[in-house]
This record gives sequence, structure tokens and C-alpha cells, in this order.
Amino acid sequence: MLIDAHTHIYPEKIAEKATSSIGDFYELPMAASIGNVEGLLNSGKAAGVDRYLICSVATSPLQTRTITNYIKTEVDLHPEFFGLGAYHQDNIPKEEIEYIISSGLKGIKIHPDFQKCAIDDEKFCNLYEEMGDKLPILIHMGDKRYDYSHPKRLANVLNKFPKLKVIAAHLGGYQAWGEAVAELTSFVKKGNIRFDESSSLAFLSKEKAKEIIRHYGAENIFWGSDFPMWSHKSEVELIESLGLNSNELDWIFYKSITEFFGL
Ligand SMILES: [Zn+2]
Repeated sequence: MLIDAHTHIYPEKIAEKATSSIGDFYELPMAASIGNVEGLLNSGKAAGVDRYLICSVATSPLQTRTITNYIKTEVDLHPEFFGLGAYHQDNIPKEEIEYIISSGLKGIKIHPDFQKCAIDDEKFCNLYEEMGDKLPILIHMGDKRYDYSHPKRLANVLNKFPKLKVIAAHLGGYQAWGEAVAELTSFVKKGNIRFDESSSLAFLSKEKAKEIIRHYGAENIFWGSDFPMWSHKSEVELIESLGLNSNELDWIFYKSITEFFGL
């Protein structure tokens, strides 16, 4: 069983442009040139992926419903998908949370750097307050060029909202893996944080990656491709090359996320 905890897809009309603009933002080559449904399923099939968590990010309040509706439509069309709704800091928390729940989606995705709003900004705090433990939130974490998604800001949030259920993407902080360990470790024992390991392993030595995964515990880690950034096949090979045991890989590939979302 293999579940991808972090993927992005876009409607056909904008898929190519959206994919290349992410590549530009991160100054990285994208594994797939078009982040559409067909591309995701083909890439995943080559690696034996069974299920995919799909999401996208709203960079204006008006985009939120369009994105949430698109994710819901694709989830309804593809039984292998489950999805997260969008949220922009200028939306009204109660309205979006109710809409996302009524759409049958499993949580919310935010990307503080794309949205130019810090994780612990008052506007996002209004969202967390309203969310409580009703829905989990997947948060893009880390980027040395920005401070919006610094792990210390997530620590502020988890201190303030102890009931919040968070998936900290990219092992807690892309390009901020050490800071993430320093800031977020204490919340792991309390049980309100999980991590996905997407867009991390290519930048860490095998020793370091394995050390961080074992530090947080494999039962708290989800495997994710960050498609269209990386191909599923290379991401499976990468995590299998770290020297983790098969029990740890079972947690990372499907057990942790199954338990977290109650799939
Ligand atoms: Zn993402």
C-alpha cells in the first residue's frame, strides 16, 4: 500500500502555466511539465501509488471557492483521490470551514510564502481558532528566502492552539530542517503534529534524512511526492535508499496517514 500525502493538480486550462510558475518560484526543474490529473495518475501508476492527497493554494480570496470546487470535482471523479480545500487569509473562517466540510474534503492547505501571510499572523490565527480539531491543516513549511513559514512561527501557533491538528510539510521546513527539529520536537509527543517528507530528501544527505525521520518517529511521517515537482518512482527509490527498516517504511508509506485521516 502506498499513499501520496502531498500532490498538486491544476485544471487543464492552466496546468502548464501553473506548473512552470512553481518551478520558477523554487528555481527547480519540475519532474512533470504539466501538473494535471492524467500526469499525476501516470506518474503514480509507475510507482504503484494507491491513493493521493490532492490540494492547491489560493493566492487571492476570490480563488478559494474555485479551487475547493475543482478539488471536490476531481475527488468525486477519482476514488483514489482525497482532497484538501483552499483558504486565503482574507476569507471568513467559519464560511470556508463549513463549505469544505460539506464538500467532503478532509482538511485545509495553506502556503504562507505564496500567500505572503505568516503562519502565526492574526488572520491565520482566526482560522485555527475556528478550526479547533474539526479539520486538519497542511502547512507549507520553510524557505530560507522568507520568514512567513519559519518553523518558529508554527511553534507559536501550536502553543496558542493546542487542539489544532497540523501536517508540517517538507519535514517541518524546506531549507530549515535544523530549525524545525529545534522548534517542533516538543509538539510531537503531544500528538498534534505530523510531517510529510516531500521535497526534502533530494536536499539532505541520506544520513541526515534518516536521522530526522527517526528523531520525529516514522509513525509521525507521511510519504509525499509534491507532484509535479518530483516523480513518484524517484521519490520511492529515494526513501527506500535511506536504510530505514520495513516497519518504518510501512508507517511512512501508508500507516501514519491512514490513521491520521481515518481512511
Ligand atoms: Zn504543497
